Order: sequence, then structure tokens, then C-alpha cells
Amino acid sequence: MRKRYLITGGAGFIGTYLCEKLLDQGHHVICLDNFYTGLRSNIIPLLGNKNFELLEQDVTQPVNIEADYIFNLACPASPCHYQAQPVETTKTAILGALNSLEAAKNKKNTRILQASTSEVYGDPREHPQKEDYWGYVNPIGIRACYDEGKRCAETLFFDYYREYATDIRVARIYNTYGPRMRPDDGRVVSNFICAALKNEPITVYGDGLQTRSFCYVDDMVEGLLGLMNAEIEAQPVNLGNPDERTVLDLAHLVIKLTNSSSFIEHQGLPLDDPIKRQPDITRAKTLLNWEPKTSLEDGLMKTIEHFDALLSANKTSVLRGLAS
Ligand code: NAD
Ligand code: UDP
Repeated sequence: MRKRYLITGGAGFIGTYLCEKLLDQGHHVICLDNFYTGLRSNIIPLLGNKNFELLEQDVTQPVNIEADYIFNLACPASPCHYQAQPVETTKTAILGALNSLEAAKNKKNTRILQASTSEVYGDPREHPQKEDYWGYVNPIGIRACYDEGKRCAETLFFDYYREYATDIRVARIYNTYGPRMRPDDGRVVSNFICAALKNEPITVYGDGLQTRSFCYVDDMVEGLLGLMNAEIEAQPVNLGNPDERTVLDLAHLVIKLTNSSSFIEHQGLPLDDPIKRQPDITRAKTLLNWEPKTSLEDGLMKTIEHFDALLSANKTSVLRGLAS
């Protein structure tokens, strides 16, 4: 049966995949976005679909929409973008959660999912991280606008659940990558691939021995939909790929897969950069029967193809500009 879905941040990287998937399933999708990091080009293909609505709005303003399901994704996710406007990031995380929860509370039987993050664990002292770990976060550091904003958003979700019986789902998303990331997104996968394709230096911050666990976007979207549809008690669920790699290993892998002549250049490690990160996904496996299927090598190849096409198209348009 056709349902109404509201996706805040629906023009962003993960959001566009969710919009597309739900439209394919025949649902009505309302995408709310202020285009802070979202791309209009991401949703242009969806605008012709009669079941798709675009609402250009800031999620810090009241959300007057009725929907059966709400995915609250609105929030810049890349450190350079969320740190560029830290006060706005905190407001987006907290007021965005509040306004989305109010929209859910105002209509009976709305289910709402929060896109939370592995950053709620901060620079974790437990490894891999299970959902019952409370985290180790610097509350006054440069990442706090995002980390603490998302932690407070989780608090609001669980308080709406306890006080108003709101039907909540909370996904703690780990590093996700794939086609449709912005070339200037600033996160490690897009930075490394774009540099490698241009044979420019690959910038590894610090010694590169810090680790991350990278999940391909199709797997993440399956996990998010699985969590939204699961009939389970309110609880946070880690979604991510446990395949942990050092940043240096990732750099070498990208150079190999792109057949690039790039060399590695070390730069300073940003403040509060977490040393290790790996999800324990036992809960997602048990409750959702979900685990990622795409290997890092396969996911990177698809992402490389995306950026290769994008950079070639840009090159062609620059050449056309020069010729005219
Ligand atoms: P993204 O930056 O591509 O998308 C975020 C979207 O939110 C963009 O379209 C942006 O324009 C929109 N937005 C930002 N502030 C807004 C505001 N005030 N009002 C309305 N719209 C606003 O990021 P993403 O990678 O697609 O991440 C989506 C969600 O998943 C975010 O909430 C992020 O915190 C979470 N998450 C992502 C990752 C990841 O690795 N991609 C990891 C952990 C958590
Ligand atoms: N990083 C890097 N070079 C880059 C971008 C990022 O070495 O060009 C490192 C960064 O310091 C961090 C890791 O890669 O240790 C992941 O960074 P990203 O910004 O992708 O995500 P997050 O730190 O939020 O996990």
C-alpha cells in the first residue's frame, strides 16, 4: 500500500538513494532540504515523478507535514562542512530532531527514524563499539557541534518515546561512501579518489594509522529501510561495515584501483580525529537480519567510475568553454 514518507536531508548523498528507492516501491516521497550540502542535480531526475515533492526548507523551522514515516537525515555529515558553520550544525541536529519529532507526534501512528552516527562514541575506548557503549566525546572540541548535536538528538528521540510513546528508530551510521558524493565533500573516500584520478598528491592526515570501517551506500540504504520496517523495541542500532582499514591502507588501495601515479603526502591530523572505529553489528544481524554485502574493493570501483565520469564531463565542458 502506498505510504507517505518525509525525508529531511533528502537531497543529500544518502537521502537521494532513499528517495529513489521508496519512489521505486510506489510510495509518496516528500524531500525537505535547504541545500546546504545537498545537490539539486541529485534530485532533478526525481522531479518528474508525480509521487515526489520537494520542499525547500530549513529543518530548524517547524515541520508542518503529515507522513506515515519520517527519515530525519538533515545535517551536514562531512567534518569540513559541519565545522564551517558549527552553531548552525548544532541547531540543525537538535532543532531538526525536535521539529521532526513534533511532526511525528502530531499525527497518529507515524514512525520516525533518526540518522544518528558512530560519532556518538567519539574517540572510542571500546573496540569494536557495541550500542551499549556510552562514548568518549570532547564536549568543547571542534567536532562537538556534530557529535554532541547528534547525542542530544538521540536523547530527544528516547524522551519522545518515553513521554509520548512516539514510535522511534535510531540508526548509528558508520562511514558510508559511494557514487553521488560531492567531489568537494571533503571526506576521505571522495578526497582520495578525486586526487588519484587527477594524479595529484593524496593527502593522508597524520601517520594514517587511524582506522575507519567503510560501508557502501546500497548496503546502508538496505539497513536503514530494514530498521524502519522492523517491529522492534526502541533501541539504537549500529549500521556499518565491520571491515576495518587504516587510512593509509585505503590510500594505497585507491592508488592501485585507479592505476594512479599519485604519491602520498602527509598533513597534520585534525584535532580530536578518532583513532579507531569499527561497528559491532551483532544487533543489526540479529534483529534485522542485515549485514553489508559489498566488499570495499567492489564499492570503491563503483565510486571510482562515478567520479571518473564526473571529472571527464567537467573536463569536456571546460574544453568546450575554451573553444567557444
Ligand atoms: P549530506 O551532507 O550529503 O546530506 C545531508 C543533507 O541535509 C543535505 O542535502 C543538506 O543540504 C541537508 N541539510 C543540512 N542542513 C539542513 C537544514 N538545516 N535543513 C534542511 N536540510 C539540511 O550527508 P549524508 O552523508 O547524506 O548524511 C545523511 C545523514 O546521515 C546525516 O544526518 C548524517 O549525519 C548521517 N550520517 C552519515 C554518515 C556518512 O558516512 N555518510 C555517517 C554517519 C551519519
Ligand atoms: N582523512 C585523510 N585525508 C583526507 C580526508 C580525511 O587522511 O583527505 C582522514 C581523517 O583524518 C580521518 C579519516 O580520514 O582520520 C576519515 O575522515 P572523514 O572526514 O572521511 O570522516 P570521519 O573523520 O568523520 O570519520
